[in-house]
Parts: sequence; C-alpha cells; structure tokens
Amino acid sequence: MNGFNWKCPHCERDVTITNDRFSEKQHYNYIDSSNGNYVIVTEFLICPNPDCNKYTLEATLYDSISTTNGIKANTAKLIKKWNLIPSSKGKVFPDYIPTPILNDYNEACEIKDLSPKASATLARRCLQGIIRDFWKVKPTILAKEIEEIEDKIDPLIWQAIDAVRKVGNIGAHMEKDINLIVDVEPHEAELLINLIETVLDEWYIAKYKREQKLTAITALSKAKDEERKI
Ligand SMILES: [Zn+2]
Repeated sequence: MNGFNWKCPHCERDVTITNDRFSEKQHYNYIDSSNGNYVIVTEFLICPNPDCNKYTLEATLYDSISTTNGIKANTAKLIKKWNLIPSSKGKVFPDYIPTPILNDYNEACEIKDLSPKASATLARRCLQGIIRDFWKVKPTILAKEIEEIEDKIDPLIWQAIDAVRKVGNIGAHMEKDINLIVDVEPHEAELLINLIETVLDEWYIAKYKREQKLTAITALSKAKDEERKI
C-alpha cells in the first residue's frame, strides 16, 4: 500500500495514511447460515499528526463468500459499516469539556435514530449540565436555569435556545424534570443535538481559544520585556 489521503475524525486534519499507520484484520465466517456468509474487516488507523496520534477504529461487514465448485470467491458486497471509535454520529470535542457532558452528548448522538426520546432525554440532561457547569446557575429546573442565563449570553444563542425549547414536545415538557422521558419526533432530537454542538463551540471552545491567545500574548510581551533588560 502506497498510502492514502484521509481526514482524521479526531483532529480533522487531512493526512496521509501509510502502512505503518494502518492495521487490518479480516474475520471470515464459513459456517453456513440462513442469511449467508459474511466477513467482517476491522481497521485501525493511527493519525500521523504528532499533536493528535489517536487511533480510529472502523468495522465493515461484507457479504463476501460465495462458493463455486468448492472454491471460495470474494464478492465483497458491502453490507454495513460502523465507525466504532470515534462514533460517527457525534462530533469529536476536546477533552477539556467535562466528561459527564461529553458522555451525555455522545450517547444522545448514538441513540438518536434508534430512540429519539431517549436521545432527547440525554440531550436535555446534557444541556442542563452545560448551563450549570459553564454559567454556574442555581440548580432548579431546566426551564428556569435557561431563563437565568438570558441576559448573560449572546442574543443569537439565546434565540436558538429559545426556539428549540418551544419546539413540539420538548417545549411542552420543558417545565418537567429532565429525567422524564417524553415522546419526541426524530427531528426534535436532532435539533437538541445541534443546539448542544453550538453551545459547546460557542462557550467552551471559544473561551479556551481566547485564553490560549491571551496567554500567548502575555508570554510574548514578558519575553520581550526580559530581552530589553539584557
Ligand atoms: Zn488526528
């Protein structure tokens, strides 16, 4: 293999994957089953970006084995692909965001298609976790906690939060306990997830980048100051 271009889902950099960054195994099932024979291929890809160096794990199932005169041929028809690590459905957020928040977000993404109501429940809990952690609001019910931050946050973000909390059943049950499971449509679960992604970007990531930039400026001006003294 000469290497191929690939976008790392962790750091979102375009990189080239060469042999030493790629490991693949094929597991054939030759035992006859009523739904055919399959092979599952698992692949580890390790990001060559030294700042990342994380592994990605993918599994692909092929309807691969057809037997002609006792000779097994690989027809390789793709049946299903799973992005195991990181999960394909959620975005990858940095580690400095608190783990319980990321866990709720990732689980809400994973289960979105299977159970929108479970996803929406996790997403509401995630949103509450974010508001409590980032804005240090007095814990009460989510609807009140949202109102508490209205005058502290960017008006456009407020509009988005306000719009989502008025959607269908999310809105109808906003006053209730976040752990109550309410029936929602798939697009309502999606809206909540999009909202969480936006606030993670706008609050945690923007704050982190700002701090990094200001720290760098301070360090640079101190260094310049030292130079002048020499
Ligand atoms: Zn990477």
